[in-house]
Amino acid sequence: MKILKIEHTRCNSFFLYLEKPSNFIYKPGQFITITASINNQIVTRAFSIAGHPHEPALMLYIKKVSGGLMSNYLADKKPGEEVEVKGPFGVLTPEKIGTNMKNLVFIAAGSGISPIRPLAGWYARHAKFVRLTIVHQERYFYCLVFREELQQYGKYIPILSRERHPKAKFGHFDGYLNLIKIPSAKYIVIGKPSFVEKAQKLFPTKDLILENW
Ligand SMILES: Cc1cc2nc3c(=O)[nH]c(=O)nc-3n(C[C@H](O)[C@H](O)[C@H](O)COP(=O)(O)OP(=O)(O)OC[C@H]3O[C@@H](n4cnc5c(N)ncnc54)[C@H](O)[C@@H]3O)c2cc1C
Repeated sequence: MKILKIEHTRCNSFFLYLEKPSNFIYKPGQFITITASINNQIVTRAFSIAGHPHEPALMLYIKKVSGGLMSNYLADKKPGEEVEVKGPFGVLTPEKIGTNMKNLVFIAAGSGISPIRPLAGWYARHAKFVRLTIVHQERYFYCLVFREELQQYGKYIPILSRERHPKAKFGHFDGYLNLIKIPSAKYIVIGKPSFVEKAQKLFPTKDLILENW
């Protein structure tokens, strides 16, 4: 796919917009893989689609990992260059999650928010009876990408681990279980392994879907 645009953020991350072929159909919550030859090594990584299916470009939100091969390779790409994309893949979709619940709680760390944007948008449009809570744990306020949009979809709880801000909680998500634990809710937790493992201990397994990056 051709790169249309790259927008770098202050948060050591970037939005990558790819030209979406007309036959590329995906569901909210799915991911693609990108393969490239980097330092004489074939590298493949998965990236969730952060764009809504109806948007014209395929949008990804990617954090640069210190020493990471693919994230830094992609960050240096320029519009007009091509990347090898396969997909869409994955079953973290509204079909799998279902709509038969009163409360759905999304809990994301960092770029784990990527698939939550299209998922929360889908529930807000197509399953209005499901009350959404969206928890985004980040380091700094300016890293809360999609903040204004996510606020429109339900109860939005931003949590910052590195700075205090009047519009966010300070600390980590497990310090706010009084806000996050909702009886009979279904939970979807997305982030790196240590974050997901913590959640696994805190929420009832039968109502929990984990996505481990
Ligand atoms: C289904 C799925 C969807 C994903 N969606 C996204 C997405 O939307 N946006 C996004 O940014 N990433 C996403 N990821 C993670 C992504 O696939 C890569 O793992 C990530 O970009 C790092 O790859 P890299 O090649 O740059 O680093 P690597 O070369 O794989 O790793 C370099 C070093 O960094 C460490 N490292 C790797 N990942 C992390 C991390 N997350 N935090 C801290 N240290 C790390 C490794 O242990 C290693 O020491 C997703 C992963 C999965 C499985």
